[in-house]
Amino acid sequence: MPLVPMKQVLDEAAKKGYGVGAYNVNNMEQIQAIMRAASETKSPVIIQASRGALQYSNLIYLQKLMEAAAIENPDIPTVMHLDHGNSLDTCKTAIGLGFTSVMIDASLEADGKTIASYEYNVETTRSVVEYAHERGVTVEAELGCLGGIEDGHGAGIAADDATHLTDPDQAVEFIQKTGCDCLAVAIGTSHGAYKTMRYDKEGNALPPRLALDRVEQVEQKLAAAGYPNYPLVMHGSSSVPPELVDIVNKYGGKMKKTMGIPMQDIQWGIQRGVRKINVDTDGRIAITGAIRKVFAETPEKFDPRDYLKPAREALYELIKQKMIDFGTAGHSGDYKCMSLEEMARTYKK
Ligand SMILES: [Zn+2]
Repeated sequence: MPLVPMKQVLDEAAKKGYGVGAYNVNNMEQIQAIMRAASETKSPVIIQASRGALQYSNLIYLQKLMEAAAIENPDIPTVMHLDHGNSLDTCKTAIGLGFTSVMIDASLEADGKTIASYEYNVETTRSVVEYAHERGVTVEAELGCLGGIEDGHGAGIAADDATHLTDPDQAVEFIQKTGCDCLAVAIGTSHGAYKTMRYDKEGNALPPRLALDRVEQVEQKLAAAGYPNYPLVMHGSSSVPPELVDIVNKYGGKMKKTMGIPMQDIQWGIQRGVRKINVDTDGRIAITGAIRKVFAETPEKFDPRDYLKPAREALYELIKQKMIDFGTAGHSGDYKCMSLEEMARTYKK
């Protein structure tokens, strides 16, 4: 089975009311862990690469690894997605590499830091949609700004700053004007491990303040405007499980006390139109904890496989549980996957 356009995967998820995780990858072990979890739980899956990941892998390595994932798992609808593309040029590069989906994040300017004007966002997103849809490639856009910085990308908005949340009325107009296939909404989540600035008296982290009602408002306004079941995207949606942070710290790590997005909040979002859930940080913590454990317990070891194997295993366990919690499990065989050519024809209609 070839890699599939993300639009189909999200539209199918909308029909049955589940979410699909989009998991960031940089190397072979991460891709193998995610694909094993998808295969065993029979889940469609989105594997995504940031610009940083593409640079890290010299473009070609990651492309070939993702292709290998699709070849090895012909029964799993697999999307190859560019995370936070910063310009039309970056999106063109990804599409040239065979990505079946791209995100253009023009909520920021091309430097990936400066908050852009609404007009710039509309214009840039529209240009990417035009180029991508001709080739059957899906486009995710972003309206409003997320907190935090990941891989050098982000305006550095504080985790609890609510002034850049997505405006529901503007969301409708934005989708009408750009034709993007799915929209990342800013509802108070932020990238990275430290999503909350709130602590109790004992110094324990309190959950991030989320504006979940925005999801509901956006969904309702979109439905009223003729976009029922329009797929929304939640970024910065790691739950930062304390037990994984504890493993890191037990074996010599120094992560600060923190709290991520509770799974029940994500599930609440899924019931209201969130179809793509971005997860990166949780995987990083799982991998780091597993590697630290091997180093601490068996310092005589020096074969990279001795620590990369447990790291892969830890990531697999984490992702498998997410696929179950997001409701993705069991849906890989629900539909026949479309090619990019078939998808391109549907856009022309
Ligand atoms: Zn993001």
